[in-house]
Amino acid sequence: MITEETALAVLLAKRAELTQRLLELEDDRRRHGAAIPAGFAEQASACENDEVIDRLAEATRLALMQTQRALDHLDIGHYGVCTRCGGRISFARLDAVPEATECAGCVAQPNPAQTTESVIAG
Ligand SMILES: [Zn+2]
Repeated sequence: MITEETALAVLLAKRAELTQRLLELEDDRRRHGAAIPAGFAEQASACENDEVIDRLAEATRLALMQTQRALDHLDIGHYGVCTRCGGRISFARLDAVPEATECAGCVAQPNPAQTTESVIAG
């Protein structure tokens, strides 16, 4: 069973790791953008690399946002409460996904018109 202290430690470590990864990816991207390869084959390969880096950076950015969201929830004492239905998120799910802000039941459903962000803001 995950406690709030464990969750905080795990989430802070995760945020630090993701922030570092994002910085490295952005650094990679800048370096790739600056160097223009001479040959067509090299250019094509550089473009593919940029796409891979962009996708990784985007995924990392989303994971970072999700981790921050969970930390915000901890901060206001809402950790483990589903942002969609307001129910408890199971300990098993939090154990597996400490940054989860939605219960397994809600995640399995298609996204409603209301986003997680608007729930938090409201
Ligand atoms: Zn829910």
